Amino acid sequence: MTKKERYHFVLDYFQTHVPAAETELIYDNPYQLLVAVILSAQCTDKRVNITTPAIFASFPTVYDLAKTDFDTLFPYIKSISYPNNKTRHLINMAHMVVNEFNGEIPMTVDELVKLPGVGRKTANVITSVVDAQPNMAVDTHVFRVSARIGLTVNAKTPLAAEKQLITYIPKELVHIAHHWLILHGRYVCVARNPKCEICGLRPACKYYQAMLRKNKSNSIPYAG
Ligand code: SF4
Repeated sequence: MTKKERYHFVLDYFQTHVPAAETELIYDNPYQLLVAVILSAQCTDKRVNITTPAIFASFPTVYDLAKTDFDTLFPYIKSISYPNNKTRHLINMAHMVVNEFNGEIPMTVDELVKLPGVGRKTANVITSVVDAQPNMAVDTHVFRVSARIGLTVNAKTPLAAEKQLITYIPKELVHIAHHWLILHGRYVCVARNPKCEICGLRPACKYYQAMLRKNKSNSIPYAG
């Protein structure tokens, strides 16, 4: 199978079986999504979704968040990983959005990465989820699943994986392909024991094909 055929198979499979993939973070507007994505670093979406309703109720706009202080915000965030850093990031992010972007969440990757707590992955998530921009956020799931299937080859960093993926995925599908790969990694192609037996990508998956070859060569030939 050529690389092009592999991409075609995988994208076709997801389009047919998971046509409406979307983020599992709960949000109503770009401000809320940005807060949720900053909080989601090294933390599950489930935990973030438990935490954000109280934050959004007490700080409904970025202006409210900019007005608060560390000691007021920290209790809302303390059950999440890295609460000290994230509390600081959120307040500093809000200051910058208010002071430098007139209270509007910027919608380009170059602007977003200037905000405290926002790296390239977060900026890609925001612009692709809110604005369907063809930006591929590569998290641990996307990185692992893409390498196993063979969509990426020898990608040593998330940026290298991102570049390979956006070279082959049609622009109009990049924003949803991000969710397809994340959800596949979360529920099927899990880190320790991928559930290959229930996976529809087996015919196109390099990892699975290699496993089949290995099992075949290890099996004892019938001598009867
Ligand atoms: S066949 Fe297995 S390794 Fe390949 S994508 Fe599916 S679950 Fe992952």
